[in-house]
Amino acid sequence: MVAITKTHPVSVIMEAYEAGLRHFGENKVQELTSKTEDLPDDIVWHMVGHLQTNKIRNLVHCVDWIHSISKTKQLKELEKRLGQAERHVHVLFQVNISDEDQKSGCDAGDLPELLSFASGLQHVSVEGLMGMASFTDNQELIRKQFRFLRELRDKHRSFEGGNIRLNELSMGMSGDYSIAVEEGATLIRLGSTLFGSRDYT
Ligand SMILES: *Cc1c(COP(=O)(O)O)cnc(C)c1O
Repeated sequence: MVAITKTHPVSVIMEAYEAGLRHFGENKVQELTSKTEDLPDDIVWHMVGHLQTNKIRNLVHCVDWIHSISKTKQLKELEKRLGQAERHVHVLFQVNISDEDQKSGCDAGDLPELLSFASGLQHVSVEGLMGMASFTDNQELIRKQFRFLRELRDKHRSFEGGNIRLNELSMGMSGDYSIAVEEGATLIRLGSTLFGSRDYT
């Protein structure tokens, strides 16, 4: 479980830390980097939101996992900046499984190119796929979308080896995590169900 702490102050994260949580996630680079400065070093930080290439430079010093990689351009920049910082990150490729334009991610058909490109990198390891289901009450549709992501992962197992592993499926949020777990999620990203509703985003 990754606790998504966007909009919540450091004091709230500290309470969760004291309760035993170590994996925390944010969806904005600026918010993530500033929070890491004030929190314990053994927190594992996940970036789960849309990632502009020009912000990667600021992120590489503090992030451990990035769930939202969908372009080779991002991988190129990541490799360069991580090399300079002498760091390593775990990434997931975000796939658009909902056909909704506002939910970012690559098309399923882009995965072979992304996987091939990533296999040559020194500072990045690929751990699996991430997807966001439609925002809907239609449970069958949500299930179908999560199942599609799992099958997509299974289909690309032949790319595994070296720095490519496809063991992780980051899918499921507060509203749909139980369906996601039934469909094979290994990472669920929970915000409001842990910390209450947010004022914005
Ligand atoms: C905010 C956010 C979450 C958590 O959302 P909740 O519905 O509050 O659990 C999960 N994933 C991403 C990418 C988010 O931006």
